[in-house]
Amino acid sequence: MVHLPLAPSLAPGASLRRGDVSDAQWLDWRWQLGHMLTTAGELARVVALAPEELDGLAGSAHLFRIGITPYYASLMDPVHASCPIRLQAIPRAAETRIRDEEMRDPLGEDSHNPAPSVIHKYPDRVLFLVVDRCGIYCRHCNRRRLVGGDEPPTTADLEAGLDYIARTPRIRDVLLSGGDPLLLSTRRLDYLLGRLRAIRHVEILRIGTRLPVVCPMRIDGELTAALRRHHPLFVNTHFNHARELTPEARAACERLVDAGIPVGNQTVLLRGVNSSVRSLRALLRGLVRSRVRPYYLFQGDTVIGTDHLRTPVDAAMELYRGLRGWISGMCIPELVLDAPGGGGKVPIVPSYLEQLDADRAVVRSYRGERIEYPQPRERDCTVPYDDIYFAGVPADDDREGSAEAGGGRMPIGSPP
Ligand code: SF4
Repeated sequence: MVHLPLAPSLAPGASLRRGDVSDAQWLDWRWQLGHMLTTAGELARVVALAPEELDGLAGSAHLFRIGITPYYASLMDPVHASCPIRLQAIPRAAETRIRDEEMRDPLGEDSHNPAPSVIHKYPDRVLFLVVDRCGIYCRHCNRRRLVGGDEPPTTADLEAGLDYIARTPRIRDVLLSGGDPLLLSTRRLDYLLGRLRAIRHVEILRIGTRLPVVCPMRIDGELTAALRRHHPLFVNTHFNHARELTPEARAACERLVDAGIPVGNQTVLLRGVNSSVRSLRALLRGLVRSRVRPYYLFQGDTVIGTDHLRTPVDAAMELYRGLRGWISGMCIPELVLDAPGGGGKVPIVPSYLEQLDADRAVVRSYRGERIEYPQPRERDCTVPYDDIYFAGVPADDDREGSAEAGGGRMPIGSPP
């Protein structure tokens, strides 16, 4: 079983603000995670809670855990409840109004679960869920059914996951997720990465983490020294608003990059949080300045209790039009919708192609001009050298998901 620091019950009146604790405490990631704010009483010491927040805190705690590091809470606007940090971290009453179309498992992950800790949906990559706790419980989380509980993956679960990955040669790419894998001790994480790196067909390791955003002190020298032993290794983090790009968070990202770890970012488009061209441009430019590559901009998933945070698809596409061409291409993430039920990521980038035939394509530029592109005369796109370069190399195995493991999908909890 994986052991994590547990939030202690705070003494009444104890302060969780930066100026009231020593630098050594504030900069200690274990202290941050051990003092997460979890109740209205604790949050009221940091911000003036609005009625909709008080209602949300009272009504939704049993639906999804509440937990915010003192560092992330320190980014909250103490006065304005429309603060993008507060909207992501403090539940609103709307979270308790669950609509018929909302799902527990919007991405259909539970039906692609060949081992207790593995989700295998796509042909050549898997999610490896190594922990069930986070450094924040985001109100838009699409995996709320799995995180924040009290049943962390056991050592046997993780061994079963490692075994499945080792005996499935199609898997080239393993994404450690959860929960937040950086909540594991550095030693434990180093061990798991080492086990994965020892599997010959695993080419790429990735870690999905929100700790650079909510607990940047976790990205310390000990961690980066351990991570750099397992290249090629990538980190994807999750900034949603420029307000999160503090000097501390930017320095954390730079420490990863300086260790040779490319850092990408997945933003969730959240209504009222970042659903304006201005806030998206500020975020995306700020990420690139911090040496973080914007990767995905996600349409919100249809997960229970999040209808109030989702942005209409047509609005998302219109926002995208305010990015493409207007800011550096390095800043542009792919706008995708994760199709409900497990259909996978589908780009919903607006089309700039207006007409296409054998002679020409007519496109619309980002400024709205119609421009003609003449088609080439030759249409055969075969690559003759493929037969030479790939001689004797088996073709990709494009079987989907866990079909290889016994020819079927197993429900969660089944033996591997
Ligand atoms: S950090 Fe990720 S897994 Fe954890 S609550 Fe937030 S979105 Fe969900």
